[in-house]
Amino acid sequence: MKFSDLGLSQPVLQALELKGYDTPTPIQEQAIPPVLAGRDLLGIAQTGTGKTAAFMLPGIDRLRESENRIPFKSCRMLVLAPTRELATQIATSAKDYGALAGLKVQVIVGGTSVNKDRNKLHRGTDILIATPGRLLDLIDQKAFNLSGVEVLILDEADQMLDLGFIHALKRINQLVPKERQTLFFSATMPKQIKDLVSGYCNNPVQVSVTPAATTAERIEQYLFMVQQDEKQSLLELILSGRHTVPGDLERVLIFTRTKHGADRVVKKLGQKGIDANAIHGNKSQPQRQRALDEFRRGKVNILIATDVAARGIDIPGVSHVINYELPNVPEQYVHRIGRTARAGKDGIAMAFCAEDERAYLKDIQRNTDAELERLDLPENFRAVVEGVGPTKPAPRGQTRVSTKKVRPKPFGSKKSAADGAKDGAARPKPKNKHPSRKGKPGGKPGGRPGGFKRRSGGGGGSRSKGGGGPRSA
Ligand code: AMP
Repeated sequence: MKFSDLGLSQPVLQALELKGYDTPTPIQEQAIPPVLAGRDLLGIAQTGTGKTAAFMLPGIDRLRESENRIPFKSCRMLVLAPTRELATQIATSAKDYGALAGLKVQVIVGGTSVNKDRNKLHRGTDILIATPGRLLDLIDQKAFNLSGVEVLILDEADQMLDLGFIHALKRINQLVPKERQTLFFSATMPKQIKDLVSGYCNNPVQVSVTPAATTAERIEQYLFMVQQDEKQSLLELILSGRHTVPGDLERVLIFTRTKHGADRVVKKLGQKGIDANAIHGNKSQPQRQRALDEFRRGKVNILIATDVAARGIDIPGVSHVINYELPNVPEQYVHRIGRTARAGKDGIAMAFCAEDERAYLKDIQRNTDAELERLDLPENFRAVVEGVGPTKPAPRGQTRVSTKKVRPKPFGSKKSAADGAKDGAARPKPKNKHPSRKGKPGGKPGGRPGGFKRRSGGGGGSRSKGGGGPRSA
C-alpha cells in the first residue's frame, strides 16, 4: 500500500515525499480514506503509530476541497491537544504537511503571552492547534470564536480528561458548529471517553491500532527489584556505564511519578556529574522546550519526565526508557515504554520496582502481557549505596572498571576509568546475561560501551531549578 493509493491530493503527496514517507502506517491506511470521504472518526491509538499524519493529511485535503476563506478571528481546522509539547509537535507536522497546500497554521498554548496569541489570531487561520485552557481564555476575551470550524480534532482525549479538561471539552463542544467533521483520538476508552465520543462524533468509523501488547512486542523489557532508597544509586551506576545493562545507552528517558521526584533525580545526578534535564508541569514553557530540544539534539541525553509532560511527545532515537517509579495505571506503563521503539525500531525498557510497587508490577504484567526479564543488581550494591564502595577487590590484574566499559568521547567523560573505580563503582558484569543479546559482548549490541557524560569537576550544577526536595529517593 502506498500513500498515493489512499486518495490524497498531489500537494499532500509531495509533502510526504519531501518528508521521505512512502508507506502509510496501519492507522493511516485505515483512517485516511473514510476521513477523506467526510466521515467522523474514532481512533484508538497512541503516539508512535503515525496518528498525527492520519488526521492531518486527510484533514488538510478536506480544507482544500471546501475552499472556504479563512474566517475572521476563527479557524477552519481546530486540533485540541492536552500538552504544550504535543500541540507544538502537531503544529510542526501541520506546517510540514500543509506547506505545499498553502495553509496557514497557528498554535496557541498556555504559559506564553496571551496578547501575542490575540494578535496572531486576529485575522484567523486555516489550522489552529491549541490546548483547551488557552483556547477558552481567548474565546472568553472575545478574541477568538469557533464558528468557522469545519474539521475538529481531539488528540489524546483521555489525557485531556486526566488533566481535568472535561468541562473545557464540554464547553468547546457547545461552541463548534453542528455541521462539521470530528476526528477523535484516544489511547484508552474508559466510560467517560465513550460518553464524550457520543457527544462529539456522529456515527464515527472506528479504527484501532496497536493494542498495548503488540506495541510492547518490539521492546525488550527488563526489571530490577530494588529498594526505594537504592534506586538513585542504581540509576547512577547505569548511566555512568559502571553497571552494564542491555543496549547502547544513547538517549535515556526516565519516568518518575511526581514533579518533585523528577527534580530530585536531576539534582542528584548533577551532584555526581551526570548531566540531565527534567520536564514536568512546574517548568516554564521555555524551560520545557529547551529540555526537549537539548534531548532531541543529543546535547543532554538524559531526560527525566513525569507522565503528563512526556505524553505524546515524539522523540526519535530514545534507546532506553527507565521507569524509575512504576506507574499505578498499567496503560501508563505502555505509554511510557512506547517512547522508545519508535518508527519500527527496537527499544529497551527497564523498570525499577521496589517492594511497595509489586502490586503495580503485577497489574502491569496482567493487563499488558508484558514480559519483564529480571536483571541482577550490581555486585556489592548495598555497599555502594551506603557509600563504602565495593567490599570485594577486583580480581588481580583487572581494573575495577574496564576502560572498554566507559564510553569515550563524544560522550566526553573527562574522568578516566580509574576515577570510576575510585568512586566506589560496582563492576560491570562481564558475561552476557541477556539471552536476546546473545553473542554480543557484555550483553550490548555491538559491544559498544555504555555510560553518559560526566561533567568534569562533578558536583552540583543541576539544571533543574527549584523543587528539588531534600527527601531521598
Ligand atoms: P505520531 O504517532 O503521529 O506521533 O508519529 C510517530 C512518528 O512516526 C513521527 O516521528 C512521525 O513523523 C513518523 N511517521 C508518521 N507516519 C509515518 C510514515 N508513514 N512513515 C514513516 N514515518 C512516519
